[in-house]
Amino acid sequence: MTDPTRVLVLNSGSSSVKYQLLDMRDGSRLATGLVERIGEQTSRFRHTGADGGGTREQDGPIADHEAALKAVAEELARDGVGLDSPELAAIGHRVVHGGLFFTEPTVIDEAVLTEIERLIPVAPLHNPANLTGIRTARALRPDLPQVAVFDTAFHTTMPEAAARYAIDPRIADRHRIRRYGFHGTSHAYVSRETARLLGKDPSEVNVIVLHLGNGASASAVQKGRCVDTSMGLTPLEGLVMGTRSGDLDPAVIFHLARVGKMSMDEIDTLLNKRSGLFGLCGDNDMREIRRRIDEGDEEAALAFDIYIHRLRKYIGAYYAVLGRVDAVAFTAGVGENAAAVREAALSGLDGLGLAVDGERNAVRGDAPRLISPEGARVAVAVVPTDEELEIATQTYALVGKTAGNTQR
Ligand code: ADP
Repeated sequence: MTDPTRVLVLNSGSSSVKYQLLDMRDGSRLATGLVERIGEQTSRFRHTGADGGGTREQDGPIADHEAALKAVAEELARDGVGLDSPELAAIGHRVVHGGLFFTEPTVIDEAVLTEIERLIPVAPLHNPANLTGIRTARALRPDLPQVAVFDTAFHTTMPEAAARYAIDPRIADRHRIRRYGFHGTSHAYVSRETARLLGKDPSEVNVIVLHLGNGASASAVQKGRCVDTSMGLTPLEGLVMGTRSGDLDPAVIFHLARVGKMSMDEIDTLLNKRSGLFGLCGDNDMREIRRRIDEGDEEAALAFDIYIHRLRKYIGAYYAVLGRVDAVAFTAGVGENAAAVREAALSGLDGLGLAVDGERNAVRGDAPRLISPEGARVAVAVVPTDEELEIATQTYALVGKTAGNTQR
């Protein structure tokens, strides 16, 4: 029998499960899908087979993650690529918070589960959902290697000067308060792909990665290692996002509590769910904001300006952190699609060697591409992210290594 070459990637959120089944010989997708609104009456399940093998949809209540994963397993089996297939090498799980403990993808056992559980206080929304997904998948295939790939892992190389907040270290350590950073899988993938686009090894280049989706974060990557990133203890810090405020004076929180008489939960909801672009103008979709700007809407224009101002500040900050920058890479929904954001983010920065070529910037496509003018000192690139492929690649590499070790 040939070696198993498939990896199932599971991304379990609090009310959703996203999955992709990949063939690691060529990175092709054998199946993808999404279960949404788990636990509600209006759950929805969408599954797409290989080679456009058709999309099947089901509406109706899916009670919990266990029921969701069982439904996923059934759909995969209908396509002949079920969980019991001998070609399945492993399941790779996205885990949001790995703290300081997990610096690399890790084969899951009971001790690993206990450690992910211990991190719940710093990731109360995400880690419990990730754990439920892992436990359910392990119950379905107890014999199969399952690997946790952490959003924080790529950022564990940050020096203490970047990772520590300027508060009493004893208090910080007691409560595990520091900059962890998120979207690490994307920053790792995009910084590597950017080096590849330049025809260089990651160890030869310094890259500023701008992951601009609904959540957004920037990172400074020096010779393949992350040296700073904009998200912090939680994914609230840093850039202006779809619904999150990003940076603000921490005293805003005291002020809202003392003067605004808001509860901690209300402030939490305000800053995480009702701020950012949405809080500023009532829309968090960049397409809608650009449409409103074209119609002369001033509220939308101000929201866009605030978004761009923050982004430019981070580009400048990371330029200084890195000293020498070889490339700036835009990725995720906004970064890959919104030419206006890319142009505004870098306009007037010729003095730093940064420029965007109008024609190149207007080209759309799925492949990594350069948008800086010919011969520019710093390359500016659009590099579509692929977190599932990265999780699958890391999972497969680890499982291969583990198998190799066992044989020795
Ligand atoms: P998430 O953080 O949810 O993974 P994505 O990376 O998918 O987000 O990005 C989603 C966002 O991308 C949308 O909210 C929207 O603002 C933006 N977006 C998607 N397509 C376009 C487009 N064609 N033009 C401008 N913005 C877009």
